[in-house]
Amino acid sequence: MNAILTFLKNILSLDNSESEVFESEVFDVIDKEHTGAVVIARPAHCVSRKQVNENALKVLYRLRKEGFDSYLVGGCVRDLLLGREPKDFDVVTNAEPEQIARIFSNCRLIGKRFRLAHVCYGRDVIEVATFRKAISDDKTQTPRLNKDGRLLQDNIYGTIEEDVWRRDFTINALYYNIRDFSIVDYVGGMDDHREGIIRLIGDAGERFREDPVRMLRAVRFAVKLAFRLDHDCQAAIAPNAHLLAGIPPARLYDEISKLFLTGYGVQTFELLRQHGLFSVLFPATDKSLMYEKADFPKMMVIKALGNSDQRIADNKPVTLYFLIAALLWEPMLRRAKEKIAKGLPESNAYYEAASETLTQQVRRIAIPRHLTLAIREVWNLQPKFNARVGAKPSRLLTHPRFRAAYDFLVLRAQTGDVPLDVVQWWETYQHENENTQRKMTQPQANEKSNKPKRKRTHRKKMKTSPVTPPPSAHDQ
Ligand code: ATP
Ligand code: MG
Repeated sequence: MNAILTFLKNILSLDNSESEVFESEVFDVIDKEHTGAVVIARPAHCVSRKQVNENALKVLYRLRKEGFDSYLVGGCVRDLLLGREPKDFDVVTNAEPEQIARIFSNCRLIGKRFRLAHVCYGRDVIEVATFRKAISDDKTQTPRLNKDGRLLQDNIYGTIEEDVWRRDFTINALYYNIRDFSIVDYVGGMDDHREGIIRLIGDAGERFREDPVRMLRAVRFAVKLAFRLDHDCQAAIAPNAHLLAGIPPARLYDEISKLFLTGYGVQTFELLRQHGLFSVLFPATDKSLMYEKADFPKMMVIKALGNSDQRIADNKPVTLYFLIAALLWEPMLRRAKEKIAKGLPESNAYYEAASETLTQQVRRIAIPRHLTLAIREVWNLQPKFNARVGAKPSRLLTHPRFRAAYDFLVLRAQTGDVPLDVVQWWETYQHENENTQRKMTQPQANEKSNKPKRKRTHRKKMKTSPVTPPPSAHDQ
C-alpha cells in the first residue's frame, strides 16, 4: 500500500500538505455526504491547489473554517482538469449571502434575482454563490416559465445535490471540495470530460428552452475545448435556435464578445452557422451570405475573424467594433445601393443605410453606442481613401480613426472589394517623409486618380516630421 502511495505521489508531484490529507482516502470513493455522486479522490485527478488562485483558496478555507461547505465549481474545475488556466474561479457554498457578508469584511452582495457575494482583494474579485435549486424541483412552487419555457426565476437556495441539476453541461458541474481536495461528480462529468463531450444535464430540448443562451455556450465550449456536442445536444439546437431572439440584447452582447474575441472566431462562426444560430444573432449578415457573389461577404467575415484570432494568438489587443463593422459591411452596402438605385444621392444613401443597418442590429444585440459610433466612422472614411490628390490624404492621415479605417480598407482589398494598388499607395504614403508625401499627392503623380486635375494648395505642415497616422485600430 505504501509503495503504491509513494508511486502515486511521485507521478502526480503533489506538495506534502496535499498528500497528507489523502493518504487515508486514496481509494475511498464512497463519500457519505455526497450520496449518488462519484467522488474522485485527490490522487486520481490532476487538480492541484498550486494552480488555484490564492484569493479563491483564502475564501474556500475561510468558509470551511466557519463551518460551511465550500467548493470550486464550473469552468475553473473543467479548465484545470485540462491543464488550462481558468478565466475565473467560482466558489459555491451552503452559506447564504448574508452569512458570507458577515464572514468577509471585503465582501459586497450583488444582484437582485441571484444574490451573489463578491469577495474583493484589490482588483481580484472572487464570486461566491450559494447552492441553488432549479425552481422546477421545488414541489411547493410552480416554476416561473415564459410561454417558450424560459426560466424567469431561479433563486431558491438548495443543497449541492440540487445545485448540480441547474447547471448546464456535465463538464461544468464538477465540484472541487476544499475539505479533502476530491472532485465530486453527480452527472458523469468526468467521463464526458475524458471523452471530450458537451452533454446537457437532463433533457436537451427542455434545458435549451429554459435558457436559450446555453446553445451559444455549447458552441463556445465545443470550439474552445475542441470537444464535440453529444447527439441530443446537437439535435436540440436547430429546433430551438429561434428562441435566442427573445433573449435580452444586452445579454447577447456579452455572449458575442465571448464567442468572437477569445481566439477561435472563425471556427465559432462556422459552427454557429452550421447550427442555424448565426442567422438569429446577425440576421442581415446571414441574408447577405446567402446572396454571396464569388464568396465575397463570407470571405470578408472570415478574414476579419481570422485576423482577430491571429492578433489574439500574438497577444495583441482586439476590438469588437472592427469585427462588427466587417460583419455588417455587406448588408450596409446592399441597402445603400438600393437607395442609390431609387435616386438618393450617394452620401445620403450611405448615411441612411448605415443608420438603418445598425438600428436593426442593436435590436438583437445591444452594441454600445460608443461602438456604433466607431463603426460609422470606419465606414464613413472608406470613400475618402479614393482621394489621393491634394490636401485630402494628409487630412485623412491625421483623423483619429485613420488606423482602423485603413485596416478596414486592407481587409476589403484582401477580399477583392478594393483594388490592391489603392492599399499599396496608402501603405507607402503613410510611412513616407513629408516631401515624398507631397509629391505623391500632386496631380501628375496620381494618374489613376479620377479626380479632375486642378491646382490645389497644400495645408501648411510641420517641417520636422511627416504626417503620421494614429495607432492601430485595435489599440484605440
Ligand atoms: P468560462 O468562464 O470559461 O467562460 P464557465 O463555464 O465558467 O466558462 P461562467 O459563465 O463563468 O462559465 O459560469 C460558471 C458556471 O455556472 C458554469 O460552469 C455552469 O456550471 C454555470 N452556468 C453558467 N451559465 C449557465 C447557464 N446559462 N445555465 C446553466 N448553468 C450555467
Ligand atoms: Mg467561469
